[in-house]
Amino acid sequence: MTQQQPALAAKATPFWWEAAPPRPLAPVPLAPRLDVAIVGAGYAGLAAGLALARAGRTVAAFDAMNPGEGASTRNGGITSGSIRPGLATMTRRFGAATALGIEAEGKAARQFLADFIRDEAIDCDFQMTGLFKGAIGLDQYDSMAREAERLSKALGIETHAVPHAGQHAYIGTDFYRGGTVRMDIGGLDPAKFHAGLLRVAQAAGLAVHGHTPVTAIAREEDGFHVATAGGTVRARQVLVCTNGYTDAASPYLRRRLVPVRSRIIATEELALEVMARLMPRRMMMGEGRQLGFYYRPSPDGRRILLGGRDSSRVGDPAAPTLRLRDGLAELFPELRGVGLDHSWFGNVAMNRDMVPRLFEKEGVLYAGGFCGSGTVWATWLGTRAAHRLLGDAALGQSAFAFRPPAAVPFYNGDPWFMPAIIKGYHLQDRLAFRRARR
Ligand SMILES: Cc1cc2nc3c(=O)[nH]c(=O)nc-3n(C[C@H](O)[C@H](O)[C@H](O)COP(=O)(O)OP(=O)(O)OC[C@H]3O[C@@H](n4cnc5c(N)ncnc54)[C@H](O)[C@@H]3O)c2cc1C
Repeated sequence: MTQQQPALAAKATPFWWEAAPPRPLAPVPLAPRLDVAIVGAGYAGLAAGLALARAGRTVAAFDAMNPGEGASTRNGGITSGSIRPGLATMTRRFGAATALGIEAEGKAARQFLADFIRDEAIDCDFQMTGLFKGAIGLDQYDSMAREAERLSKALGIETHAVPHAGQHAYIGTDFYRGGTVRMDIGGLDPAKFHAGLLRVAQAAGLAVHGHTPVTAIAREEDGFHVATAGGTVRARQVLVCTNGYTDAASPYLRRRLVPVRSRIIATEELALEVMARLMPRRMMMGEGRQLGFYYRPSPDGRRILLGGRDSSRVGDPAAPTLRLRDGLAELFPELRGVGLDHSWFGNVAMNRDMVPRLFEKEGVLYAGGFCGSGTVWATWLGTRAAHRLLGDAALGQSAFAFRPPAAVPFYNGDPWFMPAIIKGYHLQDRLAFRRARR
């Protein structure tokens, strides 16, 4: 008989679900004809549906689960809008105009999110706290400091370098060798944000069908047949916003987006003086390692939530929670052995070049591949997608609207190779760390 390992965290559900759990929606009648059918009711699908409904379109969003039960109520709530490849890599891959356009769009998208939350009066504990990013060594610190200067000069972003000696003003750890601060990034409660977006979209006239998976999308002469678990509808246009939860209903997208588990732990409540020492400015936190942790205080400033990649693929094993708990203790030795109230995971969607996309294929529009930064990108690109469907060339314009992501070789929906890839990155991180600390 195998011995049951005691649970490392009291709950396997997101901390955010305590205040705003995704709920079953009251059923709404299925309209047989729609202007637009949206697949997926996370941030992207709802943001698109809101803009379309406000423009007078008959529009419905279908979700296989409770709306929000995908990544949109499970994430860290850090409004980073970051792009993984740096400017130099993007310039090499896509050309200077696209690369610069992507960077500039990040600034607009972060501002859009802040304005949207304010204008729609969404109560989601949004605070523009700033983000501290820690460097693992002095070389990394130098290149991060140069990047901060470039961002400040090129885009006017309020950002600065923090040398090792001044680090404790931002974070109570000696683990890093300095870091950078950007003031255009903040934090929100992702589940409250989703709940607010849902409320606003429904009020605008978006029909949202929970627990209604779309099973097939077939093109016909003047639109599409969209088969759902609740019946078939005809739609003039279709938008797919399924990101890390893309299934067999979208085979083209499924070969291009790889779902990767990301996991977050939430500590028990900590003493306020401990929180004040470890996170004195209540900033969002990140780091320069490839598979670095992202972490933050809870909005009430009583707990630490720390996230990172999870190489497991089935069930809910203890090892990834243990890895995060050890990571937390490495950063903050006084938290070794701290109690965990939550440990949960969700899927982020990676693609081969790690750049989000808005693209069309055979008449269907797709917004996805947010690579773990969709709080900003999904809301933004969902809205851009809506404007494209409305035929508004100016508002539908986006630097992310270029060729579809490349198909992933030998991949058809089962990311069997991810554990090995994640282990490879961990190894690279360990080697880079050793080199940096020699
Ligand atoms: C643990 C974790 C931490 C994260 N941390 C951050 C962070 O701090 N900051 C940040 O910016 N981003 C973060 N992210 C990423 C962010 O949450 C996502 O990029 C964002 O929520 C994507 O929104 P979405 O609307 O595209 O997809 P989702 O919210 O995932 O919604 C997709 C929906 O599609 C539905 N669906 C799939 N197939 C079908 C079908 N056939 N029919 C109907 N419905 C279907 C699913 O049920 C799902 O609800 C994190 C993600 C995770 C998992």
